[in-house]
Amino acid sequence: MPRKIARRLCLLLVGVVPMISPAADPFYESSGGETPPPPASELRWWKGNLHTHTLWSDGEEYPEMIVDWYKRNGYQFLALSDHNVFAESENFWIELARRPAAAHHFPGYLARFGKDWVETDAADDASTFSRVRLKPLHEFRALFEEPGRFLLINSEEITDRSGTGKSVHMNAHNLNEVIPPQGGATVRETIQNNLNAVKSQSERIGRDILPHLNHPNWEWGVTAEDLAYVTDERFFEVFNGVLGVHNEGDELHADTDRIWDIINTIRIAELNAPPIFGLAVDDAHHYHDTAFHNHLPGRGWIFVRSRYLTPEHIIRALRAGDFYASSGVTLRDFQFDGETYQLEIEPEEGVTYVTEFFGTRQGFDPASEPVFDAAGVELTHRYSPDVGEVLQRSEGTRASYRLTGDELYVRARVTASVPIKYPYSDPPAPRRAWTQPVQPPARPAN
Ligand SMILES: [Zn+2]
Ligand SMILES: [Zn+2]
Repeated sequence: MPRKIARRLCLLLVGVVPMISPAADPFYESSGGETPPPPASELRWWKGNLHTHTLWSDGEEYPEMIVDWYKRNGYQFLALSDHNVFAESENFWIELARRPAAAHHFPGYLARFGKDWVETDAADDASTFSRVRLKPLHEFRALFEEPGRFLLINSEEITDRSGTGKSVHMNAHNLNEVIPPQGGATVRETIQNNLNAVKSQSERIGRDILPHLNHPNWEWGVTAEDLAYVTDERFFEVFNGVLGVHNEGDELHADTDRIWDIINTIRIAELNAPPIFGLAVDDAHHYHDTAFHNHLPGRGWIFVRSRYLTPEHIIRALRAGDFYASSGVTLRDFQFDGETYQLEIEPEEGVTYVTEFFGTRQGFDPASEPVFDAAGVELTHRYSPDVGEVLQRSEGTRASYRLTGDELYVRARVTASVPIKYPYSDPPAPRRAWTQPVQPPARPAN
């Protein structure tokens, strides 16, 4: 049929199909039940933490108590990410004699959630008990989740070690079943094998599962080069709030900001791959004692820009780089229009801010030299200052950088004049925000 006639026929059909007004359709009638309001649909920032531990593994509180803390402290989403377990078992009982933290914090748990909710093995007429039932996520999530207000994301910390003995920890978000650590001969193979397992579950269940590489400097497990060459991994922790994760590096190892720049330079210049994005997380294990050696909540988080608060919308915004990481600096906005990268800070009384734009330019010096430990073992590489140079530095609550077009990528970091709320190191780390790397638009070929 000639296309013109077919189009006319279509228009005719639309004209004759009766349009039912919702007002006249009994389907839309209510017999007295409340219709919940539609969730917020404006683009807005959602605050969340993607790395948390509970009694399901080595965290020292009941999961409901931890979720309650995050909800009371202004977060809209949270991932409970225990080691090699997805909190799903119906029948998991904690022996209080074996878990002092569970015994120690039981009175607080009982006081908050009450005897009808809390389950122990006490006989009806007895007050003594030795075990407490740890409730699975699917059983307690309904206590906390609210459309457009609070969301729990299914997660696991895949806790692995390479054949070379290096720590490789990766969180997987929005999964449905536990992923056992896959192992591998090398660090790179271990990361790739776990990514493959995530991808295979994702394809099987038809759901986007987002993996991120945790604390690369923990036990000096993962180098910048390892992460650079496993290009399927698109996210890593530029900030983790645990003492001992060495965000700040040492004389032999790059700090996590420098690791980020090395990864992005290698990926873009050598591998024609997109840059990696940076997250800030708590990795909280302890919840009561604010001593700095404890792994406390409230140290690192992300703000994600999305219309809806669902796992899929959060993951979609993360994959688009429409988020920033924070250890205590809040941004009103950041934007990249293809030419100018700009941000605005939400100021706090008495605090000053420095914004640095980092990047590597075309024509940079790619030479690097190996770094060895005292035993002569090659640890990592040291690069020229061209890699991740400070392209611009400014003070104040607004900053903007106009790309010249020869940058491989540009990212921004804001540093405040005050330390993070619960310092984990001495001297304490400053409060910061990190926005995601952007690339100048490709130039048209001549
Ligand atoms: Zn870990
Ligand atoms: Zn962890």
